[in-house]
Amino acid sequence: MAEELTDEEFETYSRQIVLNIIGLHGQEKLKKSRVAVVGVGGLGSPVATLLTAMGVGYIRLIDRDLVERSNLHRQHLYTSNDVGYPKVEIAAKRLRELNPYVEIDPLPLFIDDSTVMEAVRDVDVVVDGLDNFKARRAVNRACYKLSIPYIYASAIETYGSITTIIPGKGPCLECIFPNVSDEGLPTCSIVGVHPSILQIISGIEVYEAINILTKKNPILLGKLLLYDLVDLSSSMIDVNRSRYCPVCRELEAEREEIKYPIVEEVCAREGLATFMINPGQIKSFNLHEVVSKLNDPRYKLTTNSKLGVTLQIDRKIKFSLLITGVAIVEGVESREEALKIYTSLVESIINK
Ligand SMILES: [Zn+2]
Repeated sequence: MAEELTDEEFETYSRQIVLNIIGLHGQEKLKKSRVAVVGVGGLGSPVATLLTAMGVGYIRLIDRDLVERSNLHRQHLYTSNDVGYPKVEIAAKRLRELNPYVEIDPLPLFIDDSTVMEAVRDVDVVVDGLDNFKARRAVNRACYKLSIPYIYASAIETYGSITTIIPGKGPCLECIFPNVSDEGLPTCSIVGVHPSILQIISGIEVYEAINILTKKNPILLGKLLLYDLVDLSSSMIDVNRSRYCPVCRELEAEREEIKYPIVEEVCAREGLATFMINPGQIKSFNLHEVVSKLNDPRYKLTTNSKLGVTLQIDRKIKFSLLITGVAIVEGVESREEALKIYTSLVESIINK
């Protein structure tokens, strides 16, 4: 999709383009952006409406529910004619009517650990419209794994809370609410929910999402905002990373532990060894170029096949490179020596 706005789009968004905090540049960024709204109920319904109206280019709607009559006082994407239909189907239809320039992707999915990666893949931000912590914890883990910002929110009765989670930069949901379970928490069928609190909290979620998409600093990174309609009070609490968090601490340790390229010894004889080098991600070498760049009287090309080349570096050392970047260094004394040869040869191929 082109990032330039059509005249009609420009007119549609003109009152937010004149805002300093969005501007034309920001609007073009929104057009290129991709957001997943997980849950299109009380919070997700106004969130999806705002994001669509504001011109976010791609919006994935995820929800497992059908429209119920008891939703209609607060979920205004649905009308009394829609009772019994899948929420994402009706929501997608309404939102496409609201803004045909936005791509709406409805996904009738039950979010848990087995489906969540599919739900949040390839988006720039995930916005919370969920009604339970089991699904939120799965979303938090997936977003952390995939490094996707996640705006958490919940609201019930007359109060709500919200925070912005940026993987690696502040606490994750598990740091803030460790091991939280839905058991014993109030539900809206028992205690009810005032539609106004949903409008306030969803409005702030969208504000934060737009901040992230337009590359502004999110306000609620490391802060949990609490709001209560009863006395129109709000408070902002600092929230920190937990040293014991099983989600972000473990994932970070995993990431730190694996340092590429990985050098593995495959066999040794007479004090000389062979090492296999795994570059971490698949590279794609053009072997014709490799051969011409390594054309050096010091090296002798001993094998030149379709998928790999081998050079005799000196009397003892042989170096083979496969087109994927995997390399084998034979006849060296140590792992360090193998890595040094690999790095200098690959660098000379890449930089020459
Ligand atoms: Zn954490």
